[in-house]
Amino acid sequence: MTATQSRRRPIRSPRGLPRAWRAAAWLAAFAGLAYPSVPMPEATWRLAPSPNWDVRPFGVRPDTVVIHSTAASGLWLNVRYLRKPASQVSAHFVIGKDGQIVQLVGLGRRAWHAGVSDLRGRPDVNGFSIGIELVNLNDGRDPYPEAQVRSTAALIRWMRQIYDIPDRNIVTHADVARPPGRKSDPMGLDMRALRRGSRPADG
Ligand SMILES: [Zn+2]
Repeated sequence: MTATQSRRRPIRSPRGLPRAWRAAAWLAAFAGLAYPSVPMPEATWRLAPSPNWDVRPFGVRPDTVVIHSTAASGLWLNVRYLRKPASQVSAHFVIGKDGQIVQLVGLGRRAWHAGVSDLRGRPDVNGFSIGIELVNLNDGRDPYPEAQVRSTAALIRWMRQIYDIPDRNIVTHADVARPPGRKSDPMGLDMRALRRGSRPADG
């Protein structure tokens, strides 16, 4: 475990953040910094940078969230894999069954999670999306514990303070993978509940 993995973000409410903080967070995310400055609510957040990313297309701000499941158990085993240069894959976040959030890639950067993909005619979903991996076996039976779903919703709610992410752009890997049927994750996750739970409290 590296030193960065044990750093924690403070726990604070997202309500009523000063405007300057929000602007700074957006700038940090746009610049691709791995450490956006808006505090995350309600969850432990650790940093474990992955080298598996490149730049987003010029001027593109993410407006989409793609939810995955890892199809393998163990938060840190998955994190380790997504940090290996040879794996050539990553996600912005991995969320453990206990609700712990690990960030691997800065929001302004293009993580490699969706592969060949398309959202309502827009190709290369990685270019305009944020990828979240949930630790789950993806067999349709392995549950997504409440703590994991709560952290995921809180994380998306937080991102919605920085980016415009409509409900219809909170999608699954199965929704956007091409050709259709190439991916099935996150099997068994209640996406409607997640969309509902991730709406900003004041919006
Ligand atoms: Zn996936």
